[in-house]
Amino acid sequence: MTPAKFLEKVLTARVYDVACESPLDPMPGVSERLQNSVWLKREDLQSVFSFKLRGAFNKAYQLKQANPGLKGVIAASAGNHAQGVALAAKMLGMQAVIVMPATTPKIKVDAVKSHGARAVLHGENFDEAYKHSMQLVEQEGLAFIHPYDDFDVMAGQGTIAHEIIRQQPDSVDMIFVPVGGGGLLGGILGFLKAVKPSIKVIAVEPEDAACLAAAMKAKRRVRLKDVGIFADGVAVKQIGKNTFGMIRGLVDDVITVSTDQICAAIKDTYDDTRAICEPAGAVSLAGLKAYVDMHGIEGQGLVAINSGANMNFDRLRHVSERAEIGEQ
Ligand SMILES: *Cc1c(COP(=O)(O)O)cnc(C)c1O
Repeated sequence: MTPAKFLEKVLTARVYDVACESPLDPMPGVSERLQNSVWLKREDLQSVFSFKLRGAFNKAYQLKQANPGLKGVIAASAGNHAQGVALAAKMLGMQAVIVMPATTPKIKVDAVKSHGARAVLHGENFDEAYKHSMQLVEQEGLAFIHPYDDFDVMAGQGTIAHEIIRQQPDSVDMIFVPVGGGGLLGGILGFLKAVKPSIKVIAVEPEDAACLAAAMKAKRRVRLKDVGIFADGVAVKQIGKNTFGMIRGLVDDVITVSTDQICAAIKDTYDDTRAICEPAGAVSLAGLKAYVDMHGIEGQGLVAINSGANMNFDRLRHVSERAEIGEQ
């Protein structure tokens, strides 16, 4: 994929049938404390409470364009991607099948069903659910939608970068991006480095799920044995093949944050915007704060992405306890 071809993919991506142009909200409290202008890109305000529907809808749309007779799409996911695919398929009048591990909480199964998708519960873990979804691709003639390792998915996520530079055309110096499999980061880098390469893009991962940091260090993709699931939206063992190809030569820096730093960033988000985000949704802001501290950055325009808000309410007790520790 050439840079020009990817740029064209972002500029022609179809996302606004389902996604909104999310606000880029100022964070007055954090800005004052850090002596920088900090904005939060509010992807938690999308209809499925995460950015995932951008990539999922664009991919489903491109598949349907290429094959108008396509019956439906399939994904293996218990998280935000599942809801993105379910909603995208509904909007395009296609079937959606979502394969989830048998252990998936009912609340997530119901969320997918509420968008009219068929939930198939199979296997003990994600790998088994994934294998089963591949069998269904064959048996039922469905098209698979990967959560990140796909150029149309990346292009859909890349529309976030286009919005940011329209919303603050002159004042953004750095964007901090959370990383799971790298679809969001790949899309943002592919767009920004073609259009405004002066903006620095910093990748942020939880320290116990840092598959990109490990791959950058080894100069090849590595598979982590175990990953922490506190920030479940970014708990990925291996960075994608296509995403890593896009990221490795373009990303300006890769950093990691602790669970306590993530909890403190959930509190900061609440204090400045009154929004509650899920742990993965606060990874980017936690990284922004750590990076400013590490490098003594002042007077710059910094953007964090609140990537999602899908969290069970009862986890807030744990978050609020840890937030104080993370602030120290
Ligand atoms: C999927 C997801 C991410 C990470 O996106 P990737 O494209 O997998 O890197 C970050 N935050 C939330 C809330 C997500 O759902």
